[in-house]
Amino acid sequence: MRRKECVSRENNRLRHRYRIAPVRQIKIYNIVADTKYIFVTGGVASSLGKGIIASSIAKLLQARGYNITIQKFDPYINIDPGTLNPYEHGECYVTDDGQETDLDLGHYERFTGIKTTRYNNFTTGRIYQSVIEKERRGDYLGRTIQVIPHITDEIKRDMLFLGKKGGYDFVITEIGGTVGDIESLPFIEAIRQLKWELGKRAVCIHLTYVPYLSAAGELKTKPTQHSVKELQSEGIQPDILVLRTEHQLSDGLRRKVANFCNVDPEAVVQSVDMPTIYEVPIGMQEQGLDRIILQKMGMEVGPTPELGPWKAFIDRRHKAVEELHIGLVGKYDLQDAYKSILEALSQAGTYNDRKVKCHFINSEKITRDNVAEMLAGMDGYVICPGFGQRGIEGKIIAVEWCREHDVPTFGICLGMQMMVIEYGRNVLGYADANSLEMDAKTTHNVIDIMEDQKNITNMGGTMRLGGYECHLREGSRVRAIYGKDTIRERHRHRYEFNSQYKADYEKAGMQCVGIHPDCDLVEIVEIPEMRWYIGTQFHPEYSSTVLQPHPLFLDFVKATINK
Ligand code: GLN
Repeated sequence: MRRKECVSRENNRLRHRYRIAPVRQIKIYNIVADTKYIFVTGGVASSLGKGIIASSIAKLLQARGYNITIQKFDPYINIDPGTLNPYEHGECYVTDDGQETDLDLGHYERFTGIKTTRYNNFTTGRIYQSVIEKERRGDYLGRTIQVIPHITDEIKRDMLFLGKKGGYDFVITEIGGTVGDIESLPFIEAIRQLKWELGKRAVCIHLTYVPYLSAAGELKTKPTQHSVKELQSEGIQPDILVLRTEHQLSDGLRRKVANFCNVDPEAVVQSVDMPTIYEVPIGMQEQGLDRIILQKMGMEVGPTPELGPWKAFIDRRHKAVEELHIGLVGKYDLQDAYKSILEALSQAGTYNDRKVKCHFINSEKITRDNVAEMLAGMDGYVICPGFGQRGIEGKIIAVEWCREHDVPTFGICLGMQMMVIEYGRNVLGYADANSLEMDAKTTHNVIDIMEDQKNITNMGGTMRLGGYECHLREGSRVRAIYGKDTIRERHRHRYEFNSQYKADYEKAGMQCVGIHPDCDLVEIVEIPEMRWYIGTQFHPEYSSTVLQPHPLFLDFVKATINK
């Protein structure tokens, strides 16, 4: 297909993908006969791991044969996290259908292996946007639009949407932020109303923190009591409490919490720090969290599932003691900014019977003089994704060093673009080779802006986002790695390899081995003579799960062992 035709075809698809909030007709939601709803709220502090608890509950119910999905409601006003700095919000996770979402959706997918969609993550901004669009259309027939009932009704509609649409047995809804925040009030009110309407078909699980005061040598439950009181004052009696703690809680302490918070003693579950997040479902199952949920909902409990493959994974993880060291070359020295990459590497490590240790290498600090020292001692390198000028030249120097030393190197998105720029400068002799993103005046724009990105002025949700097909060249290394000729991977970028340079690159040795079938876009480059030197325009890390680790990460980690 010729380029021009395909751009407009693509555009159509993209328009569909980029629509932020689909405008749906206002209608009274009708609750599907028996989908059950589990709400997960948090108190005392943020970062307690609500996402992991929600994912663990999903895992346990899934193991019992139920059809589940998990969604997240975030109280901030951005329409989605796509425009947020990773320092603010960690990684932006991308769903296959092209929504930029909260990183917790990554946990949901890694734990359950079930794909999330644009309907699995809503923010206050997206909800308001939808209500305001309806108001402009005149859908409210002249009424005054208010937080209650219009915003809360919209939230309720969105909370029930997947349940109505997907035929799920359980919809698990995680509420971002902590109870008591002004921003989360409409969400809590929506849950209050839904709990009332749904009766036994809804439960609320509240996650709190039990701090340990070392001076007193005591665990303190008062913050939990206050947090539950706060939730109660907003009209919700939690059914189950999950207490995050660094030390085991005694039965007496659990009874005390149960007594003060109007919760059954057995519905007070502890979540003690685990060596890995993947062990949390096991701990929850041992305390019968899934059983308690089923009982509260009046459902049959049945035998406890084995969690065989999951336990086998954890077992293998524990046995893998030999370490591999992977350098992550990027500009954010922050765990959450590269969450999915870290998880994909660590899963691939387990399946290679190795413990992967990742080390951040700040690309802003890399210079020609210190590159050898800064990169020393690693078994392999991931050149990370990113946006903008900062840290770019350091990345290019790092890539050159990796190529010249023939060490396993994996470039992801911007990382792949850096591989292309470095090769252009140092092998093809284009001294000013660059991406138009970094240098609008370069005479060698080996990375070019995508055709349909040229006239975009609105930054939110307008990149090339989500899953696209890619054809793998016969005889290439990636073809062998994937074991098939067509793959589908998720994207998040505005720039691309400039196909005008394709022949030059291939002649010099860098092969364009993955191509988007409709548009001729280069999605993968590799240098076959090297040990492992592959760059992908897409983000394979988004689709690596515990039980289905990603083939590229598996092979990359394997290559670092063989090094
Ligand atoms: N900034 C680059 C682009 O937009 C790469 C994006 C990324 O790494 N996700 O094309």
